[in-house]
Amino acid sequence: MQPIEAHKPDLTLATDLTDQQKLEARQQCFYGCVFCGSPVFRYYFPPDSLSAVLICPLHTKQLRSTLLSASTLVERINQPFNQQRVNKPGFSFDPNRRVQVSVGMNTVYADFVPSGGEQYCIWVNGQELFTLHSESGWLCFSFILSDTTGQVLIRVEKGELQRSPDQWEYSYEVNTLKIRDQQRRLQFTAQLCNDRVLLTKGHFVDSFGDGFVVEGNRVIAMLDGQKGGQYMHRIEPGRYKGGWALFNKIRHPELVMPGNFAFVCAAKRKYPGSER
Ligand SMILES: [Zn+2]
Repeated sequence: MQPIEAHKPDLTLATDLTDQQKLEARQQCFYGCVFCGSPVFRYYFPPDSLSAVLICPLHTKQLRSTLLSASTLVERINQPFNQQRVNKPGFSFDPNRRVQVSVGMNTVYADFVPSGGEQYCIWVNGQELFTLHSESGWLCFSFILSDTTGQVLIRVEKGELQRSPDQWEYSYEVNTLKIRDQQRRLQFTAQLCNDRVLLTKGHFVDSFGDGFVVEGNRVIAMLDGQKGGQYMHRIEPGRYKGGWALFNKIRHPELVMPGNFAFVCAAKRKYPGSER
């Protein structure tokens, strides 16, 4: 198949949109990539257009490699993928229905008021590492994915992919977002839709080695880069403003946790040698 240069859409990354322009773009594209509905995307200006659209990394690549034509892009902008998902799981949700939020095997239920709000799924020493936002009846996601040492790899802010290693692959199929590294190893898996958020893979660790590692059903608390499972305290799920929190009070004595969390892991012991 011969790629036809003339059909290659000229996409421009929209780098300096205001928060209001981003909100409008999210609403116009129904909170997902116009091709596949992915809740992780970047904002682009299509050719001859001043309003930004949401496109995921996979479909950006396909547009740039001419696997997708400019006319397909126009079709999708006029009829974004998620527009057809209104009666199926998408990102608009019923405010009377709770959103199930599971990290590994543990579940809490998020209640959002119609005016909006946040659910902190993973909070580590003052950093929100996985957060659900509701905006006038729509859900979107922010998260920071790290490597095992706590170096930030991926930063997503209200769906916008702000940072990612090159060559990493993103796919969103049957409500499941998967992110793979250059070697095609899975680094992140989560089912993301309007009534269910199930996180089953990812490292959420800060630069001191505090945080959580999610691996299938298991959620491993990390303190100073060591497994800190012995500090885990489990409370039965109920009405909580947050899911998982890790609070290293030794390192951050001044910090105050927002809201109430269903699962709290806190470091209270003294470090070996700290009395010297
Ligand atoms: Zn897509």
